Amino acid sequence: MSASLPDSDIAAEDQKERLNLLDFTEEGLGDLLQSWGEPRYRARQIIQWMHQRRVLDVDAMTDLSKTLRARLSESVCFKLPEFSEEHCSRDGTRKWLCQLAGGPVVETVYIPEGNRGTLCISSQVGCALNCTFCSTGRQGFDRNLSQSEIIGQVWLAQHRLAELDAGNKITNVVFMGMGEPLLNYDPVVGTLQLLLSDYAYGLSKYRVTVSTSGLVPQINQLKNDTTAALAISLHAPNDELRTELVPINKKYPLAMLIQACRDYFPEGTSRHIMFEYVMLAGVNDQIPQAKALARLLEGVSAKINLIPFNSHPGARYTCSSREQIEAFRDVLQKAGYIATIRRTRGEDVDGACGQLAGDFQDRTGRKVRWIKRDKN
Ligand code: SAH
Ligand code: SF4
Repeated sequence: MSASLPDSDIAAEDQKERLNLLDFTEEGLGDLLQSWGEPRYRARQIIQWMHQRRVLDVDAMTDLSKTLRARLSESVCFKLPEFSEEHCSRDGTRKWLCQLAGGPVVETVYIPEGNRGTLCISSQVGCALNCTFCSTGRQGFDRNLSQSEIIGQVWLAQHRLAELDAGNKITNVVFMGMGEPLLNYDPVVGTLQLLLSDYAYGLSKYRVTVSTSGLVPQINQLKNDTTAALAISLHAPNDELRTELVPINKKYPLAMLIQACRDYFPEGTSRHIMFEYVMLAGVNDQIPQAKALARLLEGVSAKINLIPFNSHPGARYTCSSREQIEAFRDVLQKAGYIATIRRTRGEDVDGACGQLAGDFQDRTGRKVRWIKRDKN
């Protein structure tokens, strides 16, 4: 598949005034074209060029009329972030530092596993929610990503994987990188539309997952705006502990959150909500807590994913032992839940939980190095 990059001749100043077409959904682009007196269906053709064929050059969009191409040429641009560094772990996991306009970086991770290839993307620089075990939370909040910066991570990862030509595909996308996606709602929903659209990335609704720490009003809204899957970062079976680990719980306590989950995919439908539960030794990993969790999720269409805690400098927790995680899982399974333990991938890049830049280790405990991405 060919890819054309933006015309570097266009001066940066000039680009500022231009509309970045990667910030548009099909609908938004339809509105723009209509306001220009063009038929709305042209939006679909442009979306296909940009996202399916990865062509970011108006002149190459040969099925558009000459008049439309001329109008586009004078008023739009295609601005993507840039993967400035790439790191490849022994198990094939690839982690990129994604450089955004103005200097900040976020991370994007690709995890191949059998026939699957999961891309973990970021939605904010930092995060305001300050969960006590999360290194992104410790950084504080810097800014939201635009839609072009979020979908741009998928675009760039596909482009890079095609370039590597090793047969790796993106089959799943999860919003489990940096940031709280539901605090950057519109660009995230726009990205979801492109991910699920047959004219863009064409992914299955079962394979695109928004992960949230539990913002109830946005969860209630999201069910009207997407068919994508939902993951809730639960981490505790009662309000007292959850408020300590995930402070937003004070605003949206468990009774509200669990009700929103019940409403999201009512029991009896084929869809499940994934509950993520990070395993912190001696904090939330005791057997009575597993039993309380099983009770809490009664009547919810739930799957539970136990995540071994990924330590980072300054962390005040340690990861539960393998035996403890398995015993916790067994309680949940006996109670009738589908409960799994997340496989650690190189430990370093597991879940892309804000373990940013350089200071991570591969499975053997050796320091691994960043590899500067080849520019050609
Ligand atoms: N803000 C969203 C999505 C990004 S975090 C959320 O909280 O859901 C993605 C997942 O990684 C969440 O389940 C989060 O709780 C988890 N996580 C964060 N830091 C972690 C760590 N150090 N080890 C393991 N999981 C972590
Ligand atoms: Fe933010 Fe999610 Fe980290 Fe909590 S776990 S601080 S919500 S990124």
